[in-house]
Amino acid sequence: MRQPVILLGKGEVSLAAADGDVHVEPEGAGLEGIEALLAKDPRAAVVTSGGDEGFFRASLCLERGVKAVVLRRGALEQAREWELAARARSFGRDLFVHDDTRGYERVRAGGERVQVGAPEVAAWEMAVRAASGQSRQAAAIGLDVDAAWEKAAEAAAPLPMDAPVPGLSENLEEVAFANGDKPVLYLVVPTRSLDAARARHPGAAMALARAEAAPLAVEGATGRRIEGASGEASVHAFFSTNPDLAARAASLWEQGSSRNAAAIGELLGYPACCTAAFVALADRRNNAALVYVTAARTRALGASFHSLLDVAVRRVVPFTPCSFGCARAASLATRVVASLPRAQAEALTAALARPVLYLDEARAVALENARIEGAAITFESARFLPAPAPLDPAGELFARKLFGALFEGGGTLVCTDDFFEVRGASFTRRLGRTSPRLGVLLPFGGSSG
Ligand SMILES: [Zn+2]
Repeated sequence: MRQPVILLGKGEVSLAAADGDVHVEPEGAGLEGIEALLAKDPRAAVVTSGGDEGFFRASLCLERGVKAVVLRRGALEQAREWELAARARSFGRDLFVHDDTRGYERVRAGGERVQVGAPEVAAWEMAVRAASGQSRQAAAIGLDVDAAWEKAAEAAAPLPMDAPVPGLSENLEEVAFANGDKPVLYLVVPTRSLDAARARHPGAAMALARAEAAPLAVEGATGRRIEGASGEASVHAFFSTNPDLAARAASLWEQGSSRNAAAIGELLGYPACCTAAFVALADRRNNAALVYVTAARTRALGASFHSLLDVAVRRVVPFTPCSFGCARAASLATRVVASLPRAQAEALTAALARPVLYLDEARAVALENARIEGAAITFESARFLPAPAPLDPAGELFARKLFGALFEGGGTLVCTDDFFEVRGASFTRRLGRTSPRLGVLLPFGGSSG
């Protein structure tokens, strides 16, 4: 039987050239509908939408092994066509544009790669550099903190820090390994803690990728890893009950963690869909950008925000999910949570099921007792989330006071391209957004109505 052609997205299209079966994405079926079409093992995909919807559908098809992906000519801007062409090349697939007058034309990669879904990278990097060593400036990146907001922040109580789940493991990946869900466990361990890490996994063999790794520092706000910077010496350690697998993972890592990302991901037990989406990216180093990209892709593909994948509160799975609605990633997260002591599992599940206003790896706010109503979220109170890549103490305190002034007393949060606004019974507070426009609403948990 001939493999079918699938047709994804909205928009007019004629399929004069396609013979045999053509399966069309049902409107409003979301990611599940797309997955059902991909499961038919199509030989080609025609993507009719523009914007993020078209871009992420085309990328998904390339990642999943569809040999030829056809875009509607002119539906995507040139930079995005080129980005998809670069992805097609890295997966060994073909990308075409088509219209009725000129027919098919292959798209060749060209120009710089772009991180679709992330804030503007150049402006972001510039803002991070400009704010280096200046606490308040770093706390205000992407926000228009004028004199009035300075004053309001001064007067405000800092937003309370979110409380940790009592007794919860520092590294839930080790829980997944103990569950048998990962052939290999990968840890970046400070050299002085290596014996302790080894002692936690007495039944496993350990292999080191390099005897001594370069000291690793994490850039504030973006969470970008900077090798060779000042910082504590660390080692890349791989554990497995099968010594061959540990050695193989270490060797692949040594030969190039980026080049071998797919093979390493498989050894670490990451879902193939998530590894492929990660490998496809133009830049994988900026952790904060990955959150934006994943959120954009989730919305574009019509996926849900599964609360166990609420990475802003806690990373239950160590990899970047292909979308926040990825069923395979969610199922791994479910197994981790299910193996925790009951009180921990309940507290963690509740903590994850909160909408988050995420700016970067230093600034994120969880909204409590929240209700999602379209683009608005009504909430009772807010908590500042412990940061994976925090600002300095003065900067963090200023950020907490600034968000304290914005969120105090609860209300309804509305986000537009130009501002964040909190409306209460007797007030409207509006905090402007500026380049590089940080801030994305992650609608995890929160009953909708
Ligand atoms: Zn996935």
